[in-house]
Amino acid sequence: MALIVQKFGGSSVADAASIKRVAGRIVDTKAAGNDVVVIVSAMGDSTDELLDLAQQVSPKPPARELDMLLTAGERISMSLLAMAISDLGADARSYTGSQAGLITDSAHGAARIIDVTPGRIQEAISEGAIPIVAGFQGVAQDTKDITTLGRGGSDTTAVALAAALNASVCEIYTDVDGVFSADPRVVSKARQVPYITYEEMLELAAVGAKVLHLRCVEYARRFDLPIHVRSSFSLKEGTFVMSPQAIAAAIAEGKAMEQPIISGVAADLNDAKVTVVGVPDKPGEAAAIFRALAEASINVDMIVQNVSAASTGRTDVTFTCPQGMAQKAMQALQAQHGSIGFEELTIDEEIAKVSLVGAGMRSHPGVSATFFTALADASVNVEMISTSEIRISIVTRVEDSQRAVQALHTAFGLDADGEAVVYGGTGR
Ligand code: ASP
Ligand code: MG
Repeated sequence: MALIVQKFGGSSVADAASIKRVAGRIVDTKAAGNDVVVIVSAMGDSTDELLDLAQQVSPKPPARELDMLLTAGERISMSLLAMAISDLGADARSYTGSQAGLITDSAHGAARIIDVTPGRIQEAISEGAIPIVAGFQGVAQDTKDITTLGRGGSDTTAVALAAALNASVCEIYTDVDGVFSADPRVVSKARQVPYITYEEMLELAAVGAKVLHLRCVEYARRFDLPIHVRSSFSLKEGTFVMSPQAIAAAIAEGKAMEQPIISGVAADLNDAKVTVVGVPDKPGEAAAIFRALAEASINVDMIVQNVSAASTGRTDVTFTCPQGMAQKAMQALQAQHGSIGFEELTIDEEIAKVSLVGAGMRSHPGVSATFFTALADASVNVEMISTSEIRISIVTRVEDSQRAVQALHTAFGLDADGEAVVYGGTGR
């Protein structure tokens, strides 16, 4: 008997009717002879609503209390879903993250799972019941306080439980048909990708594709657990996120087609660009800058250093970081002004990072040429460039980013014949 873990996102359980529909789907999976474990997110946008409410009560709520509040969202959906399943004649039992054995560190708001001890879940399965687990939450090993895993963390709960229970697959149900070659809300001809490697998915998630939580993919890769991203609004197969070996096996069995060179294009509008102007061009300066940023726990992404002007012996160092960290970065650098000796700091939040991802880049020449030609033809100005083995990213103006994504999507032959279906919801 196969064990299937199914995770339903907020848009799939947004109201009573959706909860009943999802309940039917779960019971069908069980009736088909599988064991099923379910993870749910909070209904619709209720996590955002709880955050708003907290803001109205307190401008700076204690992290411990905020976590306690936010975990209530998932408790509402898990118990309602268990009721709906009971009505269909199956035995369903809801569990908080803590009850399900999701043990984390105590970093409130961004806790990491350090252990999974799903004894109660295994017991429920062996008794023929369907356990329904609240996503996105756990309990801290040291403080015993309730924690959350960060926004979108239910995906990670699902994969972590699936790995601990040795499930055959972790199905992530959302409001689109799977992983797309671009955001279907931006590119109407985005195509669904049937198979994608963990590595490509990690790159896509890191550069702004919002389908899966980054940590959930890291977790799945570590345990070599296949993820099936699919829609709860249709019965169609979605996207399988697997190892290259598993995909090669699927191709050999005739289940999958040969993998394309490029799997997707994504834009990320959440970064800011900081320039340290007039840095003395001598050894140790870059080290001092990035040490100051590291000490302030700033995640730096792209870095560019200009050629120094011969006349002044000074250069500019530009880097990007998440917008939410940019002011802190400015302060950290300002505090070192005396020792680093730069002239000024500038910040630019009107930037977008546009990225092209594909494992085929490794073995196919000419990808960069096509990439930059497409951007040039679309009059997109490139401000910064960075690459990995399977990704090219550029920084451009926010207002040019959609045009850039479109142009790249077309240039790499990714445009589908028909239009992508978006079933509603916010895509979270
Ligand atoms: N409800 C949480 C959020 O909105 C967790 C999740 O949906 O995965 O971020
Ligand atoms: Mg979500």
